[in-house]
Amino acid sequence: MAISEKLESIFDRVVARNPGEVEFHQAVREVLESVEPALARHPEYAEAKIVERICEPERQIIFRVPWEDDRGVVHINRGFRVEFNSALGPYKGGLRFHPSVYLGIVKFLGFEQIFKNALTGMPIGGGKGGSDFDPKGRSDREVMRFCQSFMTELHRHIGETTDVPAGDIGVGGREIGFLFGQYRRITNRYDAGVLTGKGLAYGGAQVRREATGYGCVFFAQEMLRAAGDSLDGKRIVVSGSGNVAIYAIEKVQQLGGVAVACSDSSGYLLDEKGIDVELLKRIKEVERGRLGDYVQSRPHATFVAGGSVWEVPCDVAVPCATQNEISAEDAVTLVKGGCVLVVEGANMPTTPEAVRLFGEAGVRFAPGKAANAGGVAASALEMQQNASRDSWTFLQSEQKLQEIMSDIHARCYATAEEYGMPGNYVAGANIDGFRRVAEAMLAQGLI
Ligand code: GLU
Repeated sequence: MAISEKLESIFDRVVARNPGEVEFHQAVREVLESVEPALARHPEYAEAKIVERICEPERQIIFRVPWEDDRGVVHINRGFRVEFNSALGPYKGGLRFHPSVYLGIVKFLGFEQIFKNALTGMPIGGGKGGSDFDPKGRSDREVMRFCQSFMTELHRHIGETTDVPAGDIGVGGREIGFLFGQYRRITNRYDAGVLTGKGLAYGGAQVRREATGYGCVFFAQEMLRAAGDSLDGKRIVVSGSGNVAIYAIEKVQQLGGVAVACSDSSGYLLDEKGIDVELLKRIKEVERGRLGDYVQSRPHATFVAGGSVWEVPCDVAVPCATQNEISAEDAVTLVKGGCVLVVEGANMPTTPEAVRLFGEAGVRFAPGKAANAGGVAASALEMQQNASRDSWTFLQSEQKLQEIMSDIHARCYATAEEYGMPGNYVAGANIDGFRRVAEAMLAQGLI
């Protein structure tokens, strides 16, 4: 999409200063394409160089993570934490452990996180971190040694009022436990609010684990409601089979939809009777097994090795795996299969070309920074509970999450209308998130 010459030159400078970081460039471009009308209404933003400042992280940390595997072999990984923007609160965002992680991935995620966190209306800035460590096939003890080494360096950069990491791909309850243990040991402080996604036994919050997936489905429900429709009887396809996917499926089934498919990196699972979420949880969370194992217990289901889950016709698609997982070709297949709504559970799972194709086909589209904000919002609730040494019930927490998602939806919806683009959730989310951060930065002076 075309942007003004001024923004084009800002974008060129971002590319030149961050060579090769294609995912970061993509995330920046997407926001710049949306915020033009807001910049036109607010000349003070340009004067204070808000866009240029937002695109430059406040701090970037890269560190060595040495660790020893079970056979005594030494490995060296690279750790990252990008503290992107703290205008609204302490840096907040997850840690991703995956072999594809490099600075460009961490920066794209941190950049998205700024606006996502702003959209929640909660006092959290944006950051992200991770490592190119691959937890796949590693024993619990190897993961523990890696986490301890990672935290031995990271601990000096984080804190409950400074920077609060959580999970992302490859970092769940087990990893957060090991990271928290090491933080506590090094600092000799029980600062529960230094990490979120903790276990319920040691400062964790109800609904944090479920929040990203549940939140996506609440968001989908709001979008359907705004169009006079509901989830009832809808056929849903979810990609991924991690934490986000599992709890999106659970909430879909609770709200009367039928989730028929999900996937992992080796293929997809199709269960026309609706995915048995308890079985899926047992395989993925308890046994740490493979998705294909599902068909042993449910022989009517099929596992299609190597297939793309987007081949399965559906009303609603919920991409919950990873960035750029829906190509232009997949978008065409989804539209042909009758898909009318796409809700991003993952961060930036839809390629720009696919987003354009959905728009042309009249498919309603919810960007991740709005739709998957439930996870980080529940993290902010965990921080609140830690700060007040309190803990809320499941029901109370879920109600709060539902309110937050409904507020985010209302903000995106209203902002899109205000700017003459009704139904454009991308514009609504980007403009509202950007405006909140811009106002806070302006008020706080040139820092
Ligand atoms: N990794 C999640 C996200 O992409 C959650 C971050 C958090 O809870 O801090 O928003």
